Amino acid sequence: MHQSIEKLLGVQKLDREISLLEEAKSRRPMELSDDLRKVASGKDVVSRVEDEIKACRMEIDKGELKIRELDADIEKSTIAMNAANTNDEYSIFKGQIAKYGEEQGGLEEEVLETMNHLDGLQGKKAELERDLADTEKAYQRKETEVNGLVKELDSKVGGLKDERGQLTSFVDGDHFAIYERIRSKVDGDSIVPVEKKAEEEGVFFCQGCYMRVTKQELNQLALAQELLTCRSCSRLLFLEG
Ligand SMILES: [Zn+2]
Repeated sequence: MHQSIEKLLGVQKLDREISLLEEAKSRRPMELSDDLRKVASGKDVVSRVEDEIKACRMEIDKGELKIRELDADIEKSTIAMNAANTNDEYSIFKGQIAKYGEEQGGLEEEVLETMNHLDGLQGKKAELERDLADTEKAYQRKETEVNGLVKELDSKVGGLKDERGQLTSFVDGDHFAIYERIRSKVDGDSIVPVEKKAEEEGVFFCQGCYMRVTKQELNQLALAQELLTCRSCSRLLFLEG
């Protein structure tokens, strides 16, 4: 086997490990998305109840204002009734007062009902806020855990990259450049063995793309004097053993 290939296989092994770790690292934060969604929906629910509470308060204020206005109307009608000159006038004002009173009674009932509803909403809000706080706490716990794991993966990757740097310093510069160029273009390994098809003696295939290698190429690989790349997939080839 060509000396550079031997060294580059060591680099490739590290590259595989690094890419697995990088992948794991990029996947980790995705584990948070579910919890993040739960927090967002919890906040949404609380805010909807808050809107309902606000609407209830406005309705109560409106009802109370109307009740006070009717107080003033009743007062006015009472004064008018007391100053009435005829029995007819007296009974008209008396009727008005009764009507205002009835309206007031209805409004008071409505306001009371809305107040009860408001109480219920406030209890519901408190409960939802407790749930939200729990969800947020769970999210933060998980976030801390994920951040720790990502940091751990980062430091492992850092260590492997250092190791890679040391290893590549022993590889011929041109050969390393070829390896890097292939690596930037292909998925998976940049250096692959050629392997024999079991039933056919002397017939070898690139293990990157399964293209058959020629006899001449096979001889070149056996001599291992220069680097050889696959005609089809451009990966660096080597003959095992
Ligand atoms: Zn190939």
